[in-house]
Amino acid sequence: MPENPRLDSNQRACDHCGALVFSDTKKCVQCGHFPVKLHRCPQCKTIGSAGDERCSKCERMYEPGGDFL
Ligand SMILES: [Zn+2]
Ligand SMILES: [Zn+2]
Repeated sequence: MPENPRLDSNQRACDHCGALVFSDTKKCVQCGHFPVKLHRCPQCKTIGSAGDERCSKCERMYEPGGDFL
């Protein structure tokens, strides 16, 4: 009986590189980022969503496509 590779509920694809990671993974083994795209302000370390343009706390602009966790 062939084993069908399927996405388990405790796994997800890394937002950065697409590698399959466990949903509780803090760091993707392939690209080294937190697998969910979230901005982290380099100035005050506040976490913002990927769609945010600037930090909600200190209003520093995020690097476009950068400053991810
Ligand atoms: Zn990755
Ligand atoms: Zn900030």
